[in-house]
Amino acid sequence: MKIAALGCALGRHSLDRNTVRRVHGAHVGRCGRCGSAMEETMPNVWGLQPVRDAGLGRRYHF
Ligand SMILES: [Zn+2]
Repeated sequence: MKIAALGCALGRHSLDRNTVRRVHGAHVGRCGRCGSAMEETMPNVWGLQPVRDAGLGRRYHF
């Protein structure tokens, strides 16, 4: 857990452009501060991706 993720706690995630991938025609990436999976719901609009195993730890990596 990083203290730097304060903005994340407020829902202001910081997309890490280096993690952006194209999956099934959509862009997905990760927050550079807390590592949460994000997806581009509309051009230049990023939201959190639903995570199925929330609470069980982060098991998948890029
Ligand atoms: Zn974040």
